[in-house]
Amino acid sequence: LVQLFRPLDLLGFVYRTIRQGLIDMAAMFKLIDADVEVKDVPGAPALRIDRPGITFENVHFGYDPDREILHGLDFEIGAGETVALVGPSGAGKSTIARLLFRFYDPRAGRILIDGQDISKVTQESLRAAIGIVPQDSVLFNDTIGYNIGYGRPSHMDDADEDAIREAARGAAILPFIEMLPEGFETQVGERGLKLSGGEKQRVAIARTLLKNPPIVILDEATSALDSRTEQEILATLNRVARGRTTLAIAHRLSTIADADRILVLENGRLAEQGRHAELLRRDGLYAEMWARQQADSEA
Ligand code: ADP
Ligand code: MG
Repeated sequence: LVQLFRPLDLLGFVYRTIRQGLIDMAAMFKLIDADVEVKDVPGAPALRIDRPGITFENVHFGYDPDREILHGLDFEIGAGETVALVGPSGAGKSTIARLLFRFYDPRAGRILIDGQDISKVTQESLRAAIGIVPQDSVLFNDTIGYNIGYGRPSHMDDADEDAIREAARGAAILPFIEMLPEGFETQVGERGLKLSGGEKQRVAIARTLLKNPPIVILDEATSALDSRTEQEILATLNRVARGRTTLAIAHRLSTIADADRILVLENGRLAEQGRHAELLRRDGLYAEMWARQQADSEA
């Protein structure tokens, strides 16, 4: 009989799934060293964050050599700023998030955090500084408490139940957990309780709250939610963003209208940037996307 999944194929599959989902799983990365494309330079220092600004300098990137996805991106996100990233599907928004987390290195150009080239610092320190609420959250086949606690900084231990509880409260998932007979001990994932997209996203938000990183990336963090749940979670996300440098990738423009600044990406290029009102006045791609979504929501 042909074995469909040799262990290494399975690991590769898990790795790709995680990388796509932008789950930060340092433990998993250690397991699959052989498959990791990005390496620390010898003697790399840790990222030191004082003011967590982000700079993209002429960043070119493509997954395949013959197809470039990002064509020389230049932008800055100031420390503490909340910047929204919007644009048509396939424009390269999630790719920007993956580069920031250094799942891949740019083909040309540099990405800096607080003035330090992220390809020159340890991946561990980089990933410790960034919290991601991914587009599709993947859960471990473990308890819901473990899944939230996974985000904890290394100085916390498993016993820090109060912190996990507070994070669940902050992510508006505590009432749901408390209704489960086994509470935080409930098994979730493929072999346990199946959570809805919105519930999984709240687990990811709780994980990020617990991690308490200076930089947060929200990748269409409300895309899996119906619009009522979305409203609830937006308040939570605003809380997550407060006092941090935040990049919010959004599909529904209504969710980011009050961002400090909006970057509009089209085919791997920055087409426009500005505040919501400015972009509407410009009457370009953003204004067009906005008009279309307004019409859709009325229909
Ligand atoms: P967005 O998030 O704006 O919808 P993505 O950044 O996910 O867009 O994708 C940008 C482009 O890169 C798309 O054309 C997509 O098909 C391609 N792409 C994304 N991930 C991969 C991958 N792992 N390998 C090859 N191409 C990819
Ligand atoms: Mg995307």
